[in-house]
Amino acid sequence: MSDLRDLYQELILDHNKRPRNFRKLEGANRSAEGYNPLCGDRVTVYLKFEDGVVKDVSFDGSGCAISKASASVMTESLKGKTLAEAKALFEKFHKLVTGKSHDAPGSPDLGKLVVFSGVCDYPARVKCATLAWHTMTAALRGDGKTVSTEESF
Ligand code: ZN
Repeated sequence: MSDLRDLYQELILDHNKRPRNFRKLEGANRSAEGYNPLCGDRVTVYLKFEDGVVKDVSFDGSGCAISKASASVMTESLKGKTLAEAKALFEKFHKLVTGKSHDAPGSPDLGKLVVFSGVCDYPARVKCATLAWHTMTAALRGDGKTVSTEESF
């Protein structure tokens, strides 16, 4: 298992160093800002949401390696997803990083998101890992408020 952990670590570091879709999205019709005061992570998520599908997604901001890598992998995971699929994926990802993961029948495939499974050993990092996801959800809701991990959802 430690080899797997090393591989996961490498992937997270790689996404931190070279975050994917790290830019303001041209033609985005949804966006939201997120803030994790416990760590100082800030993220803005941009979405092009059309016909009930995430056509494109990007982010920018600054934060720790986990928050940045998580946002990066999230953008790769969300393209082409419907609102319901995006929500189901967040739910499963949240269970993974809080250590409540179990494979319920019909639950979505986490794909690359499994690299964050180690986060459940570091409860303080859960908010770093989920910040971009909370922000994405707020962007899809379209209420335009800044999301803080210290508010209830
Ligand atoms: Zn953080």
